[in-house]
Amino acid sequence: MNKTMKTNRTTPTAGRPKGTKNAKHPQVDGELTVCPKCQSTARGPYKTKEVTQHGGERNGKPYTEVWFRRSECTSCGQHRIDKHYVNNPGAEE
Ligand SMILES: [Zn+2]
Repeated sequence: MNKTMKTNRTTPTAGRPKGTKNAKHPQVDGELTVCPKCQSTARGPYKTKEVTQHGGERNGKPYTEVWFRRSECTSCGQHRIDKHYVNNPGAEE
């Protein structure tokens, strides 16, 4: 597999330059996530992040993906999954 490939396809050069910080992901709304049990906003660090490519509209604002992040309440130990609606139209995956 050492063929030289000639293509006339133009490669898009608009890719993100390396080394630049990812653009901030604007959250649709700044909902503060709280513990479902004790309403505390204190939580441990997020352990996992699951991104669902699911767009829609929330409070009149568009979003392109939903993040589910697992954490746990540092007040009562309740496990919680924080849901974030993120508008990230540049994502291609
Ligand atoms: Zn709690």
